[in-house]
Amino acid sequence: MIETTHKPGRLRINEIFHSLQGEADAVGFPTVFVRLTGCPLRCQYCDTEYAFHSGDWRDLDAIIDQVRVFATRHVCVTGGEPLAQPNCLPLLTRLCDAGFDVSLETSGAMDIKDVDARVSRVVDVKTPGSQEAARNRVENFGFLTQRDQLKFVICSREDYDWSKSYLQEHGLPGRCQILFSPSYSQVPPASLAEWILADRLPVRFQLQLHKILWGDVPGK
Ligand code: SF4
Repeated sequence: MIETTHKPGRLRINEIFHSLQGEADAVGFPTVFVRLTGCPLRCQYCDTEYAFHSGDWRDLDAIIDQVRVFATRHVCVTGGEPLAQPNCLPLLTRLCDAGFDVSLETSGAMDIKDVDARVSRVVDVKTPGSQEAARNRVENFGFLTQRDQLKFVICSREDYDWSKSYLQEHGLPGRCQILFSPSYSQVPPASLAEWILADRLPVRFQLQLHKILWGDVPGK
């Protein structure tokens, strides 16, 4: 039976590994990834389903000790949905206190306001193509700063048009950096690039570097 109970001072960790950051502002930097177990969403393109259930409970000191072993400045806390575990917040603060350059990858469905202000938050906006657009928490947009990024994964031309309208509807350009990424194997990257250029859209195109380098391999 899968253990889901919240444990004081502990987090359920799916994996901790060292790789290159594949997305967002820190792309290309050697980074330690701390992947937390569990996610309340079920995006159709999810590539980390293996993190939904399996993992070991560890206390914060043990997690930070393991991160230090890699001697890398950048740390990314990811999932699953890391904020689904309340102890993610003290972990982020402890990592900042320890001097790491910390980023958080979150689905956009959880409240981000209590995340340590030193953390760079990469917040998804779920498009209709993800099949989880109803989970977008628009209240989060008011907490975004220039340290943060909003990430749209585009699954089709319809998704692109929806995202373009969504940017205007919620006044998002200028609030933080906006990233548009093609859903792996669903939209040709060059098509998305052409759409952005044709519309003069103020967004940053990105590809998932780790998938170009290694494909869909867990732990990379
Ligand atoms: S939010 Fe992320 S981890 Fe959760 S189902 Fe969607 S893609 Fe997968």
